[in-house]
Amino acid sequence: MASSPALPPFDPADPLGIDDLLEPEDLAVRGTVRDWAGKRVLPHIAEWYERGELPGVRELARELGGIGALGMSLEGYGCAGASAVQYGLACLELEAADSGIRSLVSVQGSLAMYAVHRFGSEEQKREWLPRMAAGEVIGCFGLTEPDHGSDPAGMRTRARRDGGDWVLDGRKMWITNGSVAGVAIVWARTDDGIRGFVVPTDTPGFSAPEIRHKWSLRASVTSELVLDGVRLPADAVLPGALGLRGPLGCLGHARYGIVWGAMGAARSSFETALEYARTREQFGRPIGGFQLTQAKLADMAVELHKGILLAHHLGRRMDAGRLRPEQVSFGKLNNVREAIDICRTARTILGANGISLEYPVMRHATNLESVLTYEGTVEMHQLVLGKALTGLDAFR
Ligand SMILES: Cc1cc2nc3c(=O)[nH]c(=O)nc-3n(C[C@H](O)[C@H](O)[C@H](O)COP(=O)(O)OP(=O)(O)OC[C@H]3O[C@@H](n4cnc5c(N)ncnc54)[C@H](O)[C@@H]3O)c2cc1C
Repeated sequence: MASSPALPPFDPADPLGIDDLLEPEDLAVRGTVRDWAGKRVLPHIAEWYERGELPGVRELARELGGIGALGMSLEGYGCAGASAVQYGLACLELEAADSGIRSLVSVQGSLAMYAVHRFGSEEQKREWLPRMAAGEVIGCFGLTEPDHGSDPAGMRTRARRDGGDWVLDGRKMWITNGSVAGVAIVWARTDDGIRGFVVPTDTPGFSAPEIRHKWSLRASVTSELVLDGVRLPADAVLPGALGLRGPLGCLGHARYGIVWGAMGAARSSFETALEYARTREQFGRPIGGFQLTQAKLADMAVELHKGILLAHHLGRRMDAGRLRPEQVSFGKLNNVREAIDICRTARTILGANGISLEYPVMRHATNLESVLTYEGTVEMHQLVLGKALTGLDAFR
């Protein structure tokens, strides 16, 4: 097709013109989060990652609250009431900085706050949501246990009635934000089925030792939750959640953010590789001039922007109240898998420099190994889609 002077120029940062689909408010949200991450995360993230710490996490949470990023798409109680697309764009920008920062925000907003917002009593919402939206209280979400990950129905953590109180005993594992949380949403087995509990983390019997020696999500707090006779008042239970549908509903919301977020890590790696390919010379010319490098860059760009389009499509469906869980599985399965692939290809373009923390690609690639596993592994999402396609349940 001949080029026409009326056509907009080709933009390597947005080759499909996806920005044309965004409203001015969407662009404003994206710009705010991108600026924040550029100032507050990017200058420090390699050092935090190397140290395996997220220093100043409470301050970061308050700042994220200040820009409306916590519980962003929830309505009322101090939350920003943003659209699903805007929330997704925020996730993308945060994860372009680091998956650990996006995880902090996802767990706070889409898991802990979402659980209270959707399933909590009016009193629970008033007590917790405004402070969580402001980042004054950090939340965590305890579903996974040492022996029960993909199959949480087998959980052993138990809540029993004792007079008017509830008493919780058990262990949770791999819990993001656990050691820095002021409140934990803990899912436990009761005589009536699985229920969610709002657990202030200063309750006697609760502790959250941090999990060390991770090679992924190093700039993110990950913890075990120990519940040893944790006594809670009757009104600590989330009244609207009974059975696994409760936690799975929260996970659906968080997974949606990951569909966007993963593309942020991929975009950062792609941009790094593109810039490197333009400037790094071998055999007397930039490596971006070799066909094999161009094939890699072209394939990366195709998957990156297809993934963003998919995320945008799912966001529009969520905003219209028409997003099915299987569609979220579709997005999470595709986008995280493709994002890892993009990071690994970017790594090859950077050669030896690709393994250095001077560049973000290896950090993103190792982070995405966690993102591939949490919120439902690749295999779980394949099984969700497989069941939806065939009508046959292959989970067990
Ligand atoms: C950094 C990090 C942060 C996390 N944060 C949280 C958090 O905040 N809250 C929380 O509750 N959890 C959290 N998780 C836990 C995460 O959700 C679980 O790790 C995940 O659900 C997988 O569980 P698992 O690790 O026990 O693996 P398993 O369930 O033991 O699975 C191991 C392997 O077996 C496969 N498998 C299992 N069953 C089947 C089957 N039927 N068919 C085919 N393959 C199967 C899985 O796909 C996987 O490949 C986090 C994990 C990480 C790594």
